[in-house]
Amino acid sequence: MAARLSEPPNQWSVLALDRGSTSDMSEEEQDGDLSGVSDPNYFSIPQDYLNGRLVRNPRFYGLGGTAMINGMTAVAPSRYLLDQLWPEGWKWNDLFPYMIKMQNHYCYYLPSSITGISDADCRQWHGKDGPIDIAPPLFEKMPQLLIDIMSECNTSIGFMTDYDNPTNQYGCYFQQQFRKPANKSDPQSPTIRASTWEAYLPGVDRPNLRILDSATVLKLVFNDNDPTKCKGVVYEYKGQIYTAVARKEVILSAGVFSTPKILQLSGVGPTAWLEPLGVKIVAENSQVGKNFLDEMALFTAFETTEELPTLPWGADTCGWLLNSGLKEIWRRLRPQHDCENSMGPEIC
Ligand SMILES: Cc1cc2nc3c(=O)[nH]c(=O)nc-3n(C[C@H](O)[C@H](O)[C@H](O)COP(=O)(O)OP(=O)(O)OC[C@H]3O[C@@H](n4cnc5c(N)ncnc54)[C@H](O)[C@@H]3O)c2cc1C
Repeated sequence: MAARLSEPPNQWSVLALDRGSTSDMSEEEQDGDLSGVSDPNYFSIPQDYLNGRLVRNPRFYGLGGTAMINGMTAVAPSRYLLDQLWPEGWKWNDLFPYMIKMQNHYCYYLPSSITGISDADCRQWHGKDGPIDIAPPLFEKMPQLLIDIMSECNTSIGFMTDYDNPTNQYGCYFQQQFRKPANKSDPQSPTIRASTWEAYLPGVDRPNLRILDSATVLKLVFNDNDPTKCKGVVYEYKGQIYTAVARKEVILSAGVFSTPKILQLSGVGPTAWLEPLGVKIVAENSQVGKNFLDEMALFTAFETTEELPTLPWGADTCGWLLNSGLKEIWRRLRPQHDCENSMGPEIC
């Protein structure tokens, strides 16, 4: 965001504060095994619907954020879910131009005989020359068994070569990935992680952009005369406390856990929680810090008759397991639900 905002040279100056250190960054391709998580002991409170279990909440502090350690899976949101469940302004048609804008998709560099994506579909559903490279699934690293499963899947629920094509987001698929190949026209070419840091920041040297790492925002500062206006932030840097005052505006984008935390520490949140802790209320909002929905992952174990190699990129690359598994569970939990005619796998 800081890189994009500072593109016009004479419009405004941007100060980006991040609590992580730049030295934590690595361009190497990793498999999202969570070894780089910044605070591995950060857990949820006991979850009512998980039999009281605590759930680990991984994240990464540093430029590029959690994109530096995530699974690199490049999957567009489901059109069905966006259109059915998301508020006005966040529907598929609103977000689609931005999905296209950020992409530099492999279907523009590899023939459709390799990608399985036709030229017309490529032009309709994917972007070229955007900052984030999307590379094809690592077929060459896949054991034959998974390829066989895909082929079998093709004759049952169907195989999608491109989950991002919203006209058909039901079936099994191999995940496309945020990876930057050394040679885009060679599917075997080595790749590095295409994180938001890698895509937007290296080599960016602009007089109107200042990035301060190891700077932890503690709270927001509001205008004395008009507490609905945020005018700056208080942050800690090398043991000292500073205040940065914005001439234009403050954008709080500290991830799904820290953003509501900073709001609450600043007095924006549920009065019933904050007042007993001595936090002065600036704006009562009972929803700040609530309604977190995690991504559900369903891991299924199979015993195989043939020995399989260790998968370098995680077994979840096989989306088929997720889709068909969920379908079966829903069939059992909700036998009255019409799975066959449902619009998407997400609720079936
Ligand atoms: C294990 C895991 C695997 C994932 N796999 C995938 C995947 O394969 N594909 C995919 O698309 N998505 C994946 N995701 C999700 C994706 O990584 C996140 O949705 C995305 O990174 C969120 O971006 P963000 O900018 O909102 O937050 P983050 O990326 O978390 O960035 C928040 C930033 O704020 C900084 N910050 C936090 N608190 C403060 C503070 N007090 N002061 C200053 N700075 C602060 C942090 O240092 C960080 O740089 C995965 C997530 C996880 C945890």
